[in-house]
Amino acid sequence: MEVDDIAKQYVYSDTELDSAEGEAIESLKAQSQQPIPDSDKWLSEELRKNILVTSVDVVVNWARRSSLWPVNFGLACCAFEMIATAASRFDIARFGMEIFRASPRQADLMIVAGTVTWKMAPQLKRIYDQMPEPKWVLAMGACAISGGIFTGSYSVVPGVSCIVPVDVYVPGCPPRPEALLYGIRMLHNKIAKNSFITEST
Ligand code: SF4
Repeated sequence: MEVDDIAKQYVYSDTELDSAEGEAIESLKAQSQQPIPDSDKWLSEELRKNILVTSVDVVVNWARRSSLWPVNFGLACCAFEMIATAASRFDIARFGMEIFRASPRQADLMIVAGTVTWKMAPQLKRIYDQMPEPKWVLAMGACAISGGIFTGSYSVVPGVSCIVPVDVYVPGCPPRPEALLYGIRMLHNKIAKNSFITEST
């Protein structure tokens, strides 16, 4: 085949191009006289009623803070207020927390309620280490926060934060159940700000 013939086969004139383009447009126009029906239109009502758009962080944090399981860690007088908080009058079960676990492996919250002695400190640390991540610690009462009335004693830890990281402090001697519940709500707020994505990477 001659070079001129090949050129004629692949190179169109402007007129031919305009004509081909015009035909394509007319064809599309002919097919587009009626709007294309929305195949998902029937879903709109269902979507409004049944689908919630949110982020992974919000869902994960909601699940975590709505089912905190405290490990048993009552050490002194404050423990009785913690026990009262779990009973029917104050009803800690409202927050999904009714299950105080005897095993640290099934717990994600340690409520340190009472005086921490140096003799007890290794056990406290070991139980904390045995709790799976993510986990939180709430220091309940003056003794757990700073040693309380025993501050300076040779046998008392001057605050549980010397041994494990503390997320929330609930002051008092002892704090009432309402104060503990308030501290738990503060912890919920703290958990709500966690980033699951950052934590996973
Ligand atoms: S803070 Fe007060 S009530 Fe709580 S353990 Fe210490 S002395 Fe007892």
